[in-house]
Amino acid sequence: MQQRMSCIVEAANGVGKTVSVLLPSTLFAIENGMKLLYFTRTKAQLFEVLDELRRIRKKIPFKMSFLLGRRDLCVYKELKAADEADYKVFHDACRELRKWNLCPFYKDEGCNIAIDEKALCRPVILVEVCKTKRVCPYEVLRSEVAKSDVLVTLFPYVLNPLIRKYFFRNLTVDPSRTILVLDEAHNIPRLVLENLSDSVSLRTLERGMTEAGRMGYKSVEAFLRKLAEKMVRDGKVVVERGGEEVVIDICKYIEPLASEAGYKDLGSLVEDLLLFGEELRNYKASKGQLPLSYLHRIGAFLHFALRTSKNRDYAHLLCVDYGEEGGVKARLEVFMLSGAGYLRNVLSSVYSSIFVSGTILSMEHFSTQMGLASYVSCEVEDPYRKEQLLVLTITNVSTKFDSRSDEMYDLIGRIIVEAASSSPANIGAFFPSYDVLSSVLEKVSRYSLPKELIVEERGQKSHEVKEMIQKFKATSERGGALLLGVMGGKVSEGVNFAGNAMNTVIVVGFPADRPSERLKLLYERNKEVLGELAKDATYVIPAAQKAVQTAGRAIRSLLDRKAVLFLDGRYCSKDVVAYFPKWLKRRMIAIRYAENSVARLLKDFFGYVEDSS
Ligand code: SF4
Repeated sequence: MQQRMSCIVEAANGVGKTVSVLLPSTLFAIENGMKLLYFTRTKAQLFEVLDELRRIRKKIPFKMSFLLGRRDLCVYKELKAADEADYKVFHDACRELRKWNLCPFYKDEGCNIAIDEKALCRPVILVEVCKTKRVCPYEVLRSEVAKSDVLVTLFPYVLNPLIRKYFFRNLTVDPSRTILVLDEAHNIPRLVLENLSDSVSLRTLERGMTEAGRMGYKSVEAFLRKLAEKMVRDGKVVVERGGEEVVIDICKYIEPLASEAGYKDLGSLVEDLLLFGEELRNYKASKGQLPLSYLHRIGAFLHFALRTSKNRDYAHLLCVDYGEEGGVKARLEVFMLSGAGYLRNVLSSVYSSIFVSGTILSMEHFSTQMGLASYVSCEVEDPYRKEQLLVLTITNVSTKFDSRSDEMYDLIGRIIVEAASSSPANIGAFFPSYDVLSSVLEKVSRYSLPKELIVEERGQKSHEVKEMIQKFKATSERGGALLLGVMGGKVSEGVNFAGNAMNTVIVVGFPADRPSERLKLLYERNKEVLGELAKDATYVIPAAQKAVQTAGRAIRSLLDRKAVLFLDGRYCSKDVVAYFPKWLKRRMIAIRYAENSVARLLKDFFGYVEDSS
């Protein structure tokens, strides 16, 4: 920080990365009259950082606060109840509610009220206090932002251009007087692309169509109907070909439909959508209704598509998601291919930035994606004791597409059951997809399992996942449970399983992304900047990262004693292992599975004797 450099900190779980970065950076910011902005990926991580800061504040006085998204903090029941999945529609509606003075929690004169210091760093208390005082929690926190020395918030406040603009404006400090700490930084290259991209779903189009129909906007209604029908038709073709998306030019895609609906050009269509959307919002507000407008949302998206049509940093896609009942959910997407330029601008405007992670598998790849020209790095290579971890790779198993068979699923099921019977308390097995999970689940169910079986299901809501995890953790005290989940899902990332909450973690298969148009485009783009590293950067590193993240879920302290099993021969490949952190790489023992081989090794390691009672 003294040299105003960017710093990448890479260390395995349990080392105490957060406090090691938080303490010196807080001190440096206070001593130099700067602001420390700490960004996390999830709310759970944000709360952990707040806990750590409260401990530091017992020794060093400073002002701290946090900021969540408007949608997370909104207390206006009517808007919350609208179940607004599209956050942009939510934000527009909130802005209109404030403009028309329709939200009872928003005060024109500002929500700068006296709030107890404690509430300012405890989200649950803050929301309750604000409800009682009839003020918007988001607005209260927003007014605190400028006063804090240390602020903890979420990634969109730095990765989303629009949100960042307003956020830095509220800080009332020049960005060059801010220090950024970005936790779980390996997620940033992926998340920045999401934040710079946009999409509209068939559901949004249908809602826009209903609005147009009700208001008598005939041409717009006709256009949206034709577009929705075309997307369903083309989406079915994509599904029949076994794909998930196809590259299009959205302007060329919608041009004939706009002309059939009577529009001379796309500019007039977008203008109508935005104008009618605005008109509808005003009409609803004047009637005291929620000023939501999907027409405006669609207009803003198509305007973005028009602007990016000839820009090679963006790709236009028609994507399909497979619905639960076999239906096709299509959406149009404008996808950003490289976030390096945006990140370079952001990072060069601040005093200094620190990236913290346990899974930066290639410094070269990461720094290029972050647009960092120079940086210093700090790597804590292997903090664990030798006897603390057992890492096995089972070589005669694979979930590679051409290896998938009934016999293979049965073999994987047998190994999981054997491991469950030979590990104390809880064990987790994570799969590359729900399809592989359900095929193995069918096999696992045929064996007698000494532990309770808990399964992560496709489409589970956040509160359901939370309840499932609580149940799983609680079961560790009552004989233990086997949890089956997917890699990259809500359980395998962002949840910690310390101690007995998960003694053995099984990584089933190598979680490479399915070949897709998007991946091909990213590869071509990566080739331009990364040369020979492009192939690994596109296909190998992201999958290895998911696998290492999953393995790391169970290892949370330097005192834990844990076993990690990689069930796929591909983990023996030099090309994959080259990217593994040292703490895993140097312990990997490759074995060919034979009956009881896994049981023997695990029982030896844990010194585990089954409870005969
Ligand atoms: S101003 Fe009102 S609608 Fe907007 S976030 Fe606050 S409580 Fe919700």
